[in-house]
Amino acid sequence: MKIRKASVLAATALALTLTATACGSDDDNGGGNGGGNGGGGDKITIGIKIDQPGLGLQTPDGGYEGFDVDVARYVAAELGYEESDIEFKESPSAERENMLVNGDVDMIFATYSITEERAERVDFAGPYFIAHQDLLIRADDEVTDVEQINEMTLCSVTGSTSAQNVRDDFAPDAGLQEFGGYSECLTGLESEAVDALTTDDVILAGYAAQDEHAGKFKLAGLNLSDERYGVGLPKGSDLRDEVNAALQKMIDEGAWQEAVEKHFGPAGYEAEEAPEITETN
Ligand code: GLU
Repeated sequence: MKIRKASVLAATALALTLTATACGSDDDNGGGNGGGNGGGGDKITIGIKIDQPGLGLQTPDGGYEGFDVDVARYVAAELGYEESDIEFKESPSAERENMLVNGDVDMIFATYSITEERAERVDFAGPYFIAHQDLLIRADDEVTDVEQINEMTLCSVTGSTSAQNVRDDFAPDAGLQEFGGYSECLTGLESEAVDALTTDDVILAGYAAQDEHAGKFKLAGLNLSDERYGVGLPKGSDLRDEVNAALQKMIDEGAWQEAVEKHFGPAGYEAEEAPEITETN
């Protein structure tokens, strides 16, 4: 009798524990009144690119699609936000640190390379992707040697590592036109006002694969740098651990690989393996 009573109590305790656990995980994912960090229920503003096919692109119906957008949605869901809680905002390359510092966005998923200089003003979680700088050139041109780049006129984006690498690193003598977004360079490349658009290969592959550019452009295939994409956070944010855990879960569950295949497969871009997460507290 005594033994039976004890086991009933144990069973009750177990049931209570299970209920409590279930409630906890509901809160984490349901977005109701949210767990820590001002999670569910509130809105979250996420900075993305809106003119980079495959990564961050505004569609004609006003929606957003791409790998960065999918990673952002996955992480936001893990933090307790519903899809309808997310407000996406364009984050041009040169504005990303300012937008985080000024509180215009809560986090940024926008082909945002982790650099020491940027990390003085903002925090990064991740990395969640590795790309390499390359050149997009006209289909009948060839660039086989980095030395050739010094003789060329390039187009890139203000505030990007791509423009900075050209100036400081591999082609200080090259002509360089800078715009606010990479898509603005494509007209110049087609009209021969510039010889190449330079930025991360994954971005260039997206442009090359667009229907309207079919057969016009190609990647030179030069591996000019490692660009480790991080999630931009305000300095001192207490979300870094949770964001890293969400990124790791996305990788472990296979959702990361699915997103890679969905968004980069059509452009024929061969992505690196998922990187190890190193930006920890
Ligand atoms: N990943 C590079 C950067 O963060 C180039 C792409 C971009 O401008 O977003 O600067």
